[in-house]
Amino acid sequence: LCGVVALDGPSGTGKTTAARKLATQLGAGYLDTGAMYRVATLAVLRAGIDPADEDAVVALVRRTRIEVGTDPGAPSAFLDGAEVGAEIRTEDVNRAVSAVSAVPEIRELLVAEQRRVIREATGSGGGIVVDGRDIGTVVAPEAPLKVFLTASADVRARRRSAQDAAEGRQSSPDQAKASVQRRDHLDSTRATSPLRAADDAVLLDTSDLTIDEVITRLAELADG
Ligand code: C5P
Repeated sequence: LCGVVALDGPSGTGKTTAARKLATQLGAGYLDTGAMYRVATLAVLRAGIDPADEDAVVALVRRTRIEVGTDPGAPSAFLDGAEVGAEIRTEDVNRAVSAVSAVPEIRELLVAEQRRVIREATGSGGGIVVDGRDIGTVVAPEAPLKVFLTASADVRARRRSAQDAAEGRQSSPDQAKASVQRRDHLDSTRATSPLRAADDAVLLDTSDLTIDEVITRLAELADG
């Protein structure tokens, strides 16, 4: 693969799993932009800052080192050099991440870093699959392939609670549904770079597809 595959959509659509497997299959890199917003949010929570206090959030994130690995086989995230891959998936982070990622200066900082990672991966003729909410609209509007994944609210809630269980966190389907819907509502209604499909994105409803079927479809799109 040469260039960027932009994969956007709400949570629970199978986006992250599909993006990682697709990248592996294509011999491409993988960038989880959500992980960057999660690391920023973890820093805010650890510092005891109110996620709604924009000035304090921006000041803290400016002096925080946020790094996310690009190996699709070994996802990793670092806060000031320390690995925080598990800590960024907690319900506390889920609850606060939309507020932090709605701050325009935070988006500016992280989008610049995302573009730097994309340039590094594609500069030498390589490819990268980029997973997020605004990749096709803002981060990489030049991407030759943009896919927007959707799935029904029930399916997304079920997937989220299965993922939670697999990773050792407790959540009932009802809790998962409330959490996923709240976050998607906040992400879709924020003023800066709201979650939406780019005009030229391919829409893919994954409600009735297995993960392998999603990957097959994405690989076909990347091929042709
Ligand atoms: O993809 P994931 O669920 O890990 O993303 C966590 C949160 O980060 C999203 O709910 C959203 O608030 C924010 N995000 C964003 N823009 C992106 C990726 C994630 O605002 N490109």
